[in-house]
Amino acid sequence: MSTFVLALQAFLFIIAVPARAADYRPEALGEVGARVEQAARAGARPVVVFDLDDTLINSRERTTRILRELGESEEVRRAFPDDAETLAATPVSRVRYYLEETFANLGIDNKPLLAQANEFWLKRFFTNDYCAKDKPVRGAVGYVSWLAKLGAKVVYLTGRDAPNMEPGTRYNLTRSRFPMSPENTLLLMKPDPKMDDTEFKKTALAAIGRLGDVVGVFENEPRNINVLHAAFPAAVAVFVDTVHSNKPDVPAADVAWVRDFRSE
Ligand SMILES: [Mg+2]
Repeated sequence: MSTFVLALQAFLFIIAVPARAADYRPEALGEVGARVEQAARAGARPVVVFDLDDTLINSRERTTRILRELGESEEVRRAFPDDAETLAATPVSRVRYYLEETFANLGIDNKPLLAQANEFWLKRFFTNDYCAKDKPVRGAVGYVSWLAKLGAKVVYLTGRDAPNMEPGTRYNLTRSRFPMSPENTLLLMKPDPKMDDTEFKKTALAAIGRLGDVVGVFENEPRNINVLHAAFPAAVAVFVDTVHSNKPDVPAADVAWVRDFRSE
């Protein structure tokens, strides 16, 4: 066989290997519960760590509210009546991580409006007023409440920043009926909005480890679930497959995937 054919075969093999297939294992949710019970019975304090946005909280719904508001604004209705109408009727199911993808999904091809939308979104998305009205991911409230009842210390570890989002976040978690008692929960937020999310989360790991036995970690960002999994290798690591950034990471091979918090 010629070198060319071998090289061609090697090339085809490389492009034919897909990214690792999603490993959906909703039974991992029950495994975390069993680990909480086991640790509590042994007299240890079980700890479970949850990210908020797009892990427990549906941030696409927040973006939907913002896009609808933009579509209803007088200025956009005057400048782009058709696109304004589309934006004002944005369904949550069409919203993706980046507004550019969302616009494409909505069939809006309008660069000036996209630039305007990015600015409009940025001014609202990371604020108390908007996160106060957030909705949970399906099954999240029941699931986290169940773990707390079994004896878990629940840590909410979020890239949201405290200066702009703490009262809205606390109000929303309480209103949605997530466990929020100071004895059973801890909310950890970035002290500075300019900090990188993953770097902030790394700084919190040692303090989380001192709270007790970390038995479960949940994240929607591949990079962050890998950081948590490496820090707490004995915990069940769960990747919540909602939306995530386009950073190149993929969840480590032994991380379980779920779509939400319903057990099947
Ligand atoms: Mg997140």
